[in-house]
Amino acid sequence: MSFSPSNAVRAARDETPGEARSVSEIAGAIKVGEPGSFAALGTAFLTRLPAAPVPDPYLVGISGEVAESLGFDAQAATGPEKDAFAAFFAGNPTRDWPADALPYAAVYSGHQFGVWAGQLGDGRALTLGEVEHDGARLEVQLKGAGRTPYSRMGDGRAVLRSSIREFLCSEAMHHLGIPTTRALAVIGSDLPVRRETVETAAIVTRVSPSFVRFGHFEHFYSNDRIDELKALADHVIDRFYPHCRDADDPYLALLDRAVQTTADLMAQWQGVGFCHGVMNTDNMSILGLTIDYGPFGFMDAFNAHHICNHSDTQGRYAYGRQPQVGYWNLFCLAQALVPLFGANLPEEGRAERVVEEAQKVMERYKERFGPALVAKMRAKLGLEIERDGDDKLANGLFEIMHANRADFTLTFRNLSKLSKSDASQDAPVRDLFLDRAAFDAWAAQYRERLAHESRDDAARAAAMNRVNPKYVLRNHLAENAIRRASEKDFSEVARLLDVLRHPYDEQPENEAYAGLPPDWASDLEVSCSS
Ligand code: AMP
Ligand code: MG
Repeated sequence: MSFSPSNAVRAARDETPGEARSVSEIAGAIKVGEPGSFAALGTAFLTRLPAAPVPDPYLVGISGEVAESLGFDAQAATGPEKDAFAAFFAGNPTRDWPADALPYAAVYSGHQFGVWAGQLGDGRALTLGEVEHDGARLEVQLKGAGRTPYSRMGDGRAVLRSSIREFLCSEAMHHLGIPTTRALAVIGSDLPVRRETVETAAIVTRVSPSFVRFGHFEHFYSNDRIDELKALADHVIDRFYPHCRDADDPYLALLDRAVQTTADLMAQWQGVGFCHGVMNTDNMSILGLTIDYGPFGFMDAFNAHHICNHSDTQGRYAYGRQPQVGYWNLFCLAQALVPLFGANLPEEGRAERVVEEAQKVMERYKERFGPALVAKMRAKLGLEIERDGDDKLANGLFEIMHANRADFTLTFRNLSKLSKSDASQDAPVRDLFLDRAAFDAWAAQYRERLAHESRDDAARAAAMNRVNPKYVLRNHLAENAIRRASEKDFSEVARLLDVLRHPYDEQPENEAYAGLPPDWASDLEVSCSS
């Protein structure tokens, strides 16, 4: 390369993170099929194909932080190149895609609502490739970019409504400290998409270290393709859990990682009143990330049996069942990994030993989840020391919250205002309960318990406010942003994203976002249709 001032500028840019400014630089930063990437696993795992273009794409929302994590300049989305940016992340080809650099849809299978569903796969998601930035490798995927060989009867599209919900919620979850896939942007188009009514299309750019699901393993297991099963497990181990190689059985160690991360994730979901809605095994991340936001919901009024998915008539994925379903799903994963277990064991008695060992790993789910939830509840109640009966105290609160349909988020947030010694200041939380006597009885037990704690009220309140969010993505907040966005006013998407970036902070100017849902919100129904 000859020296010229522009080359010098380019060279300087190449060394500085966060420098992909133009759309062509952004496109160039997304690599396809690098060694160690999912794509490098080869054609048994994916099909390469171009996205189906959409007419006149426009930007609906962008996460500056995710852009930064990828080394992209978020200004590209709104600056002079904004149309090219929207076109690129809509999947509209900006140039001819070389055949080996086409995006890809991955194949997987899974259990849906407890029933084996056979082959599924990315029916409307295409992975563009991978970005390496600041020592991290992140996959970039377009959801809603058109039909793929795995679309079955679907149209390959996602509607604006569900795309905004996924964008906002994945960012909200991240800021709550809950492991999740992220979202860079939502791009809209007026392309009509038929659901219960005619809506319009959108594409979410999802970002994750990996989109591998339990269902990927089930796929190769059920098709008796053990070489591919092993290659997939090796990919996940090499990439994310290299220390598993030091274990007696690396594949059992991989199962153990899934057990632990899933148990932790379930404790986190329960702790914020989050319902996923469609915990099919194809929607379970091997890394324990929250993935595939559909008919999810943060509970307003607490109901232990809350079902957020209108299509889940049996309540299989009700709030109170999520931890059990996580466990059930891990059994499907364990079953799929069985052919890989015990390679170092003597042939004789191997099958029995393998089952025994796998069961032992599965048992750790209970050992992990229970204490993780109790620890979470202690923190939510502002309890520093551990005492017997803490779980009962927490359950007692859940019981009266359930009986009174008390608001989940406000109950915990306002509990921090309760004084250790003075019951006359209980109103902010007490008033959330119709049955005041029931609350008073519980509050008396809580105060007795607080007497064993050394922190004063202010210190306890500060600690509680770091674990009990004030702002979550309530359905009606998302709905407001969606309604405005359908009229091409995207300011509420941006504002809500900003609020949800600081869920634990007091934001006096955004008090309205922390309030109870308005009456109209009780009619909101969220179904699988997205
Ligand atoms: P879900 O439970 O929503 O994550 O989706 C289950 C399966 O259906 C996955 O394989 C999806 O890719 C596929 N799918 C969902 N919606 C569509 C759609 N509109 N077009 C094509 N495939 C879809
Ligand atoms: Mg899915």
